[in-house]
Amino acid sequence: MGEVLVIGGGIAGVQAALDLAEMGIRVHLVEKGPSIGGRMAQLDKTFPTNDCSTCILSPKMVDCARHPRIAIYTLSEVQAVAGEVGDFTVQVLKRARYVDETACTACGDCAQVCPVVRPDEFQMGLSTRRAIYIPFAQAVPQAYLRNREDCLGDEPIACGRCIEACRKQCIDFDMQDEVIELSVGSIVLAVGMETFDPVALTEYGYTRYENVITGLEFERLICASGPSGGRLIRLTDRQEPRTIGFVQCVGSRSLKYQRFCSSVCCMHATKEAILAREHIPDVQSYIFYTDLRASGKGFQEYIERARREYGVKYIRSRVARIEEDGDGRLVFHYEDAATSRPQQVKVDLAVLATSLIPGPDVAALAEVLGLELDEYGFFRTNPFSPTDTTREGVFTCGCCRGPADIPQSVAQASGAAARAAQYATGNT
Ligand SMILES: Cc1cc2nc3c(=O)[nH]c(=O)nc-3n(C[C@H](O)[C@H](O)[C@H](O)COP(=O)(O)OP(=O)(O)OC[C@H]3O[C@@H](n4cnc5c(N)ncnc54)[C@H](O)[C@@H]3O)c2cc1C
Ligand code: SF4
Ligand code: SF4
Repeated sequence: MGEVLVIGGGIAGVQAALDLAEMGIRVHLVEKGPSIGGRMAQLDKTFPTNDCSTCILSPKMVDCARHPRIAIYTLSEVQAVAGEVGDFTVQVLKRARYVDETACTACGDCAQVCPVVRPDEFQMGLSTRRAIYIPFAQAVPQAYLRNREDCLGDEPIACGRCIEACRKQCIDFDMQDEVIELSVGSIVLAVGMETFDPVALTEYGYTRYENVITGLEFERLICASGPSGGRLIRLTDRQEPRTIGFVQCVGSRSLKYQRFCSSVCCMHATKEAILAREHIPDVQSYIFYTDLRASGKGFQEYIERARREYGVKYIRSRVARIEEDGDGRLVFHYEDAATSRPQQVKVDLAVLATSLIPGPDVAALAEVLGLELDEYGFFRTNPFSPTDTTREGVFTCGCCRGPADIPQSVAQASGAAARAAQYATGNT
């Protein structure tokens, strides 16, 4: 029985790995970051059911970690692939964690004494972490890591407080990066997406105005495990907003940036407006949209509920610009498509639905594997075998295939796993 390589440990990669392992196939799950989980780990709730994102994802991550047929390699990247379908040889660079992940109990004693403070990437920079840290409470593996660039230095050791604090003696600054060679029959690519940086759209004032945030920043702010403990606040005065404006298609459906629709933003903005009302009963949300794309199961009903039960106002328009007035409030200038008149509305908080774009690793992996990309930079797939890439034995699923929500990513992952299993077992 051949083995399968899954690259990327977001929900798509996790689902593909679990499906393959349950078929009796040995899986190597290679994740670039310090934990599996991907973007879904950063979400508060998920549309259209408003289920807690972590409550769904976390058991799958734990199942992956415990599965006897799944080997997880974090802080790891595929460097080279040789051979052909049925017999690929893969070189994986595994970066040093400087903490023995099998011995670390995630007690946190090391971080408590670490003097270095850095922006916390998982919390979208809205809070801080130490140079030795765990990315989030439910991380898999449940182990701290030392960021060598952030640390005060190890040649010679300039600080070493974490080493002294660790009773388990599992911190080792001599740990080295290693190259691991794997032999697999087929490959599943699930490296996900990045979100568009809205700084380029100066008219929205992102980073110029503190109360203009992105959808992912909103997800962290409203989440109980987020930087404000789940209290939805404006960043300027830490007060709860009374009015929120959601700007759709930021970077999407644009001739200048991404021509494609990011497919999930109408729904995640609707979810965020619903959650805002659940947290702040008198909040008024406005969603400024191009078209409402609600093609999934139960999606249109979800939007109707947002309108009816949560008082969300949908305004068809493109916001021309956002300006801050003296007290940190934000004036939205827009043309209402229904009346063709220029209008203004003042809100306390602006949330930008930034597009889902292919990260740089998609092109890099396409180069390593000799794959074609589509016109938008995602992996090209076969329309009649939608998880097949342009190379036999290499499959793809989730957001590196094109923007997708969680149910779509999971369905594609199961499809890709089934195809990869056929090739790994020689049943093609
Ligand atoms: C603000 C916002 C809110 C959302 N809300 C919802 C919602 O409520 N419901 C819903 O259905 N969907 C929602 N989505 C969409 C959801 O996040 C995606 O559908 C989902 O994350 C896709 O999973 P994925 O595994 O394809 O990618 P990702 O979650 O991006 O995971 C990819 C993984 O691959 C890893 N990786 C990247 N490059 C490499 C490499 N070279 N080697 C190894 N590993 C690599 C990454 O570190 C990451 O762990 C939302 C998205 C956003 C931006
Ligand atoms: S002190 Fe040691 S065991 Fe505790 S979290 Fe830090 S590295 Fe892990
Ligand atoms: S040695 Fe580095 S990681 Fe450890 S406590 Fe000091 S600064 Fe932090």
